[in-house]
Amino acid sequence: MTGHLGSTGMTPAMAAATATGAPIVELVDIRRTYRLGARELPVLKGIDLGIARGEFVALMGPSGSGKTTLMHIIGCLDRPDGGSYKLAGEEVSGLDDDRLARLRGRQVGFVFQFFNLIPQMTVTENVELPMLYLGVGAAERRRRALAALERVGLKDRVTHHPAQMSGGEMQRGAIARALVCEPSLLVADEPTGNLDSRTGAEIIGLFQELNALGLTVIMVTHDHGVAAKAQRVVRMLDGSLVASQARDQAEAGS
Ligand code: ADP
Ligand code: MG
Repeated sequence: MTGHLGSTGMTPAMAAATATGAPIVELVDIRRTYRLGARELPVLKGIDLGIARGEFVALMGPSGSGKTTLMHIIGCLDRPDGGSYKLAGEEVSGLDDDRLARLRGRQVGFVFQFFNLIPQMTVTENVELPMLYLGVGAAERRRRALAALERVGLKDRVTHHPAQMSGGEMQRGAIARALVCEPSLLVADEPTGNLDSRTGAEIIGLFQELNALGLTVIMVTHDHGVAAKAQRVVRMLDGSLVASQARDQAEAGS
């Protein structure tokens, strides 16, 4: 990292060039408006953001400012109404549902605040699920699921159902599910929001380990201590990004 990424007037390409390596996420003038009957609710009002491969970015901002909406777009769970989004060089905005799902399967792992594990399945079966869509055979699915569970420290819980696990264990299982297709980008929406602070710190430690191995991480958090573990903090206010700063400035300013 060289210096901090300026707040305004910097294009995503410039921002990405300032950070390390080629950009994996390039958002230019991204817009998303929800329609409720006749009412239009603009939620993303022109987002420009570049994230370099290997970065660890924290996204902060008040409730309702549009963080989840943005993460769903970055994670290919939703599409913007306007603007350009390139993920790993591929334009996402015009993709149909099938191609969007395939791109997501190859590139993205998503981690949610409430884990979103399927309660009727063991954690191993949960971790195997995304590989079904990629057509991986049963034996290979099992082998890779167990390896992912070992990677996140759940080797001794592989036959447990979610209800038999602690919050931290469920989130580790969800992270194993997010990793098992070997994504280049991990998108986490308040991953520690439902955990006590010590367990949350362990989860962030796991993200840092994965990031050190080359995984790009973007994470929403309300916790300044959690955000301080990221290399860069991006702030959102009422559908716009207000600042983008390296960790040392973020700490000095909060
Ligand atoms: P945050 O994650 O920062 O709390 P969200 O992206 O979840 O913010 O929501 C931003 C705004 O968009 C909120 O006002 C919310 O009520 C609204 N919103 C979110 N999802 C929908 C939806 N599916 N339909 C209509 N409005 C929505
Ligand atoms: Mg949210």
